[in-house]
Amino acid sequence: FISLRGVYKTYGNQLVVMDKMDLDMRADDRLVIIGPSGSGKSSLLRVLMGLESIQGGTICFQGQTYIRAAEHKGKPLDAHLQQQIGMVFQHYTLFPHLSVLGNMILAPCKVHGLSKQQATEKARHFLARLGMEEKINSYPSQLSGGQKQRVAIARALMLEPRLMLFDEVTSALDPEMVIEVQNVMLQLAEQHMAMIIVTHDMHFAKHIATRVVFCADGKIIEQGPPEQLFKQPKETRTREFLEKVI
Ligand code: ATP
Ligand code: MG
Repeated sequence: FISLRGVYKTYGNQLVVMDKMDLDMRADDRLVIIGPSGSGKSSLLRVLMGLESIQGGTICFQGQTYIRAAEHKGKPLDAHLQQQIGMVFQHYTLFPHLSVLGNMILAPCKVHGLSKQQATEKARHFLARLGMEEKINSYPSQLSGGQKQRVAIARALMLEPRLMLFDEVTSALDPEMVIEVQNVMLQLAEQHMAMIIVTHDMHFAKHIATRVVFCADGKIIEQGPPEQLFKQPKETRTREFLEKVI
């Protein structure tokens, strides 16, 4: 479904954040990426989203070459593939001057050429699924943190992604709002959405992951099913990290 081969990424000529990384994911996988601060987790997601260039290696997505370091400075070769990936960030990235509906229909109208009416119908459908229907005309400043994140997820789903990337989407939320956003993600998991999730919440990781990937220094140190990786980590570094965070 998605495969990285020898992906190499540096910032400047000092800091290597992806050190010839190989990673494979199946269409029914939910990968949870864990690792110390600064280990390159966000960089990995931004690369997959096509927001950052890579200096070496290749990324294939759905059987096609999606990103290749040598060409287009690492930008996606195929914009159509890029559109099939949705991303939600830690800090709400809703446009403050647009209503919930405005946020939801902007890209579908521009990118997919939907009419305003078609896009509005679709927006209603996704907002209903996430329990946010009554907020359709609210502005981001009128929403709670958890509601903003649910709208951000709904907005990403409008483009019908095959893969969703979540970068610490609950880190900035109060505990009671964490659950409502995690429930939305669990609902997506039940619908077999492919996801790559960066989180520091190991309890949630155990719950949602089909596979947990521990990264440090731009390398994958260890990966495995959550039961195995959390209970019987093979590598000392994984064990040390888990002792600190659990
Ligand atoms: P955290 O858990 O704190 O979010 P992370 O694993 O997501 O960390 P990244 O954000 O990917 O880490 O950053 C990896 C390293 O790259 C860090 O040392 C960071 O300072 C550096 N870095 C990130 N973005 C840039 C950038 N645009 N330019 C230069 N250095 C950067
Ligand atoms: Mg990060």
